[in-house]
Amino acid sequence: VATTEYEPVPAVAGQADDAPLGTVVMKFGGTSVADPERLKAVAKRIVAAREQGSRVVAVLSAMGDTTDDLVALAYEMSPRPKPRELDMLISVGERISCALAAMAIHDLGHEAISLTGSQAGIVTDTVHGKAKIVDVRARRIHEALDEDRIVLVAGFQGVSTDFDITTLGRGGSDTTAVALAAALGAEACEIYTDVEGVFTADPRLIPEARLLHAVSYEEMLEMAASGAKVLQLRSVEFARNHGVLLHVRSSFSPANGTWVIEEDERMLEKAMISGVTHTLEETLYWVEGVTAPRLFAALAEASVNVDTIVQTSESEIVFSAPTSDAAEVAGVLDGLGVPWRSRDDLGKVSLIGAGMKSHPGVAAKMFAVLDEESIEPQIVTTSPIKVACHVPRDDVERAVRALHHAFELHRPEAERQHE
Ligand code: ASP
Ligand code: MG
Repeated sequence: VATTEYEPVPAVAGQADDAPLGTVVMKFGGTSVADPERLKAVAKRIVAAREQGSRVVAVLSAMGDTTDDLVALAYEMSPRPKPRELDMLISVGERISCALAAMAIHDLGHEAISLTGSQAGIVTDTVHGKAKIVDVRARRIHEALDEDRIVLVAGFQGVSTDFDITTLGRGGSDTTAVALAAALGAEACEIYTDVEGVFTADPRLIPEARLLHAVSYEEMLEMAASGAKVLQLRSVEFARNHGVLLHVRSSFSPANGTWVIEEDERMLEKAMISGVTHTLEETLYWVEGVTAPRLFAALAEASVNVDTIVQTSESEIVFSAPTSDAAEVAGVLDGLGVPWRSRDDLGKVSLIGAGMKSHPGVAAKMFAVLDEESIEPQIVTTSPIKVACHVPRDDVERAVRALHHAFELHRPEAERQHE
């Protein structure tokens, strides 16, 4: 249940009578556009924002499970589809959503134009499957907005500097939306999704998890990096680097969701812990006889996203990487010709909160709680606002529940006892 403990919420453009026309970017996820009825509802929501006076750019995801289905189709065709062709294939889901939404918007009496990522001017590097945006050439969008059209942009894709279609990694429509918001100087980037916002824990696991009214970019970065799936990690980095205000909210309700904003001292005073996140899909690697520079250069060369890194002794390094990158990692380590082993029976539970900086003892309490549950952390990593423990995968859910309860995240912040 939402609370309004604090009011950081900026007004969105076009609401004040004399405000100049602002631009808003509205992004809708796959569940929000899953079928024609939902797409029509999204079209109405977009039109309503336009009628309130904003210039509207909407970024759409593929309908429902379309992307998963396209990926499965590719692997039915070939055990190792070429990344270029895979991108050609999986980028179509978003185009379908945009074309259909444009049709619905026309029927509501507004002008709209759908654009592919490429047509919208999203220029990326050449890394298929997880391309990075290197430039946004928004001329075409500006022109369409000046002609009083609603612009629909296919999320998750761009065109590479080699003129090939690329995709931005799973969940990449968030990053499309943020990049456009930055390039257009939008008032805010609204991420419409199937949950009400960002919670103190995954509400499917912890029914008493609370909606967070505001989190800082840094907290959101840590959360996205440690298992909160509501925003793609890269979109949060982009938003922080470009000062884009993010508002994560429900497609199915008018309620305010979670604002992702610059840290502010009210956050630090209020909550020691903002949330507990978890992941079940990480593989840990132990590698010997290679220096860190050589190892991580090779992994970077293969575009592997390494997360946790621990130098456990002079000769041993432990790191984690997404399980989906396992084949690449194995290729790199075999290529280096050094002894290594991996474990994929672990998950990770993380406590995150900007207030940790001024409240010592979080790690100690976390270990005590896990100990009470007879859960043994295998590897512990920290940042100024995070403590993360790799624990056996089968213990992850129990760890999340115990920590959420022990840190009283089910209570309003003001009612927690920080002892
Ligand atoms: N449709 C893509 C995916 O499922 C991109 C996105 O929705 O953000 O990953
Ligand atoms: Mg998503």
